[in-house]
Amino acid sequence: MKNIGTAKVIPGEKTEGYLHAGTDIDGASFKIPLLVAAGKEEGPTIWVHGCIHGDEFGGAASIIRFFEELNVQELRGTFVGVPVTNLPSFKGWSRISPLDGANLNRIFPGNPKGTYSQRLAHLLLSTIKETADYVLDLHSGGLALHVDYFMICKGGDSDAAQKSLWLAERMGSKVIWVTEQEGSVGGTITDHVMEFGIPNVTIEVGGGHISEKHEHQFKDSIKNAMKALELLPGDAPVQKEYEIYRKGDFIFAGEGGLFVPASKVGSILNKGDLIGTIINLHGKVVEEIRCSDDNAYLAATGHPYWPTEQGRLIAETYTK
Ligand SMILES: [Zn+2]
Repeated sequence: MKNIGTAKVIPGEKTEGYLHAGTDIDGASFKIPLLVAAGKEEGPTIWVHGCIHGDEFGGAASIIRFFEELNVQELRGTFVGVPVTNLPSFKGWSRISPLDGANLNRIFPGNPKGTYSQRLAHLLLSTIKETADYVLDLHSGGLALHVDYFMICKGGDSDAAQKSLWLAERMGSKVIWVTEQEGSVGGTITDHVMEFGIPNVTIEVGGGHISEKHEHQFKDSIKNAMKALELLPGDAPVQKEYEIYRKGDFIFAGEGGLFVPASKVGSILNKGDLIGTIINLHGKVVEEIRCSDDNAYLAATGHPYWPTEQGRLIAETYTK
């Protein structure tokens, strides 16, 4: 029997525990909750985490529900669910950490002697390295954006990259963003998990409002990945074809005001198509935000009438 943090891994049982991740200003421990289910039959370990960005609650909720519903008698290998990895940012309902201002998913591999977030990044990565054979990384648009349902994995010829794409193709969405190394935002947990040779897929679903559909999309994606890897019985869905995008365009508001979306996430847009407008507080349109490419998949937009300062991320489009 081994432990993950304080959680015991007991074949045929579900257990709970914590990963101690440093202390707050008042000395209280940050205790990252762990949900562990171990099958009687040995097999690989899948690590599924949410809330690297603290305002992306859909992943956290879905991991909790998935774990409740998981029948451990059917399980081979081990499921490790980590609903909230970034507690300070989660408590603050924020994408960044209120402790040090860091975007945790831009500073991996972290530093054990650095700022709080750098230490947290180091702890998460070292725990994953010693625990996981596969990693699922759950994200959403957070409070500010709404995203469609798609998978993200790293491009490349390595076995881990190939296996990640193979897995992404079996998780339920036909839309996959394959990020190339040079175009990647850098410092993400998945970049570094990939360096360990551990296949991984990011799941993107929804945003601040978590619908039943979003919860099902997250849970089904996890379940499908586990079927594909033979941790659960049954066949994972394989679709006839996939929309694979390789280039992401992040669009930032050029003016402050209120964002008024004109296109729905998931649409395919052409160059010049209107994504939305920014109106000022007198109701005048101060900016038209248009698509800059043909055949672009609208992956994310801001919410209707949410306040938007100049430079805020307002939409994402992906192209092949
Ligand atoms: Zn995120």
